[in-house]
Amino acid sequence: MPKKPAASVKHAEPSVKLSLRGATRLLSRHPWVYRSDVVGADDIPPGALVRVQDPRGKFLGTALYSSSSQIAIRMISHGSVADLPALVAERIRAAIAYRKELVSNTDAYRIVFSEADFLPGLIVDRYNDVISLQILTQAMDAAPVREAVLQTLRDELRPAGIVERVEARIRELEQLPPRQSGLLWGEKSSTEYRMNGIRFCYDGLEGQKTGAFLDQRENYAAAGQYAHGEALDAFCYQGGFALHLAAKCSSVTGVDSSRPALEMAEKNATLNAQPNGRELEWIEGNAFDLLREYAAANRRYDTIVLDPPAFAKSKRDLDKALRGYKELNLRAMKMLRPGGILVTCSCSFHVGAADFLKVVADAAQDAHKSLRVVENRGAAKDHPILLNVPETSYLQCLILSVSD
Ligand code: SAH
Repeated sequence: MPKKPAASVKHAEPSVKLSLRGATRLLSRHPWVYRSDVVGADDIPPGALVRVQDPRGKFLGTALYSSSSQIAIRMISHGSVADLPALVAERIRAAIAYRKELVSNTDAYRIVFSEADFLPGLIVDRYNDVISLQILTQAMDAAPVREAVLQTLRDELRPAGIVERVEARIRELEQLPPRQSGLLWGEKSSTEYRMNGIRFCYDGLEGQKTGAFLDQRENYAAAGQYAHGEALDAFCYQGGFALHLAAKCSSVTGVDSSRPALEMAEKNATLNAQPNGRELEWIEGNAFDLLREYAAANRRYDTIVLDPPAFAKSKRDLDKALRGYKELNLRAMKMLRPGGILVTCSCSFHVGAADFLKVVADAAQDAHKSLRVVENRGAAKDHPILLNVPETSYLQCLILSVSD
């Protein structure tokens, strides 16, 4: 986080003192401090800028305060902040510049990833000429900050529309008044975007997350590189992996439990249809049941993608989640022909890279197969991992080659 020179003027912002544990956490460059480590934060307005002090009163920087979240403090600067909307605008411009260096072959990517772009509580995704944003904290919801976000995105990216996706549960947790998802600016909330040369429809007011799983973009391309033969994309959503596999495979089956997701997948398939196109089919169903049925029926594949929803939403779910990952991977490995490719993902933050590798290794042992790790991947570079902030690293993607 860039340092700002401390001004010599008297500060209007309230101060909060941290416990030693809270101060130590900040010094380790994690931006969060829990309420239990904040001493004396009475009467601080929701979403206020606060000056943060260690137990001896030494100034540590400036934070965004939440009056309701367990995460009471989210650092925004290790110095003083004179003008929050101006700082937010500057950080957005820096985030855009960072993507210019790192992102290629797509017009859809994440522009701002909250803490990883030093803008806690703000997510901004770009889908060609439509921008989709999410506001997740009291401070980012303040009118002057919202205005700075919109103005900066309009000036820098000249979109045709900016939509807001509201997470009702998060607004409730932050004790923010309810809002509807909708167009914040401009006229356009749907469009078409392109990643790795493949075309996708976008509807800013439908679907999961901000519409698509942009964090998988580089993994789609990697999976496409090794895919061959008959392919199965379990948990296919709108066909992100499946359409990338289709360019290389003789047939692709996509499975998902969500009908609207599959309807979009079909639309996307039509957008990319080639005159001598490959066979693509979409099946609505429970991937666990389907894999069990296919295994019992002795179906075989050359490429399988497993990208299930997060099984561990909290630490308590970890054991159950690991059993779920093991079962899925075991079934897939049994169905893969020798030389087959398994692309297996976890987006559960609570399942770390080592846990995931271990669970896949355990599945291989039970399946009596040897697997080689072709690639061990994470989220695309537009979803940066901030060192010392484990919460920014949540996506695992292993590409494995299966032998008997
Ligand atoms: N691979 C996709 C993202 C998958 S997200 C992409 O890159 O775009 C997880 C998907 O799993 C969601 O689309 C959700 O609808 C689906 N899903 C959840 N539970 C399921 C189940 N039991 N069987 C099949 N699909 C399921």
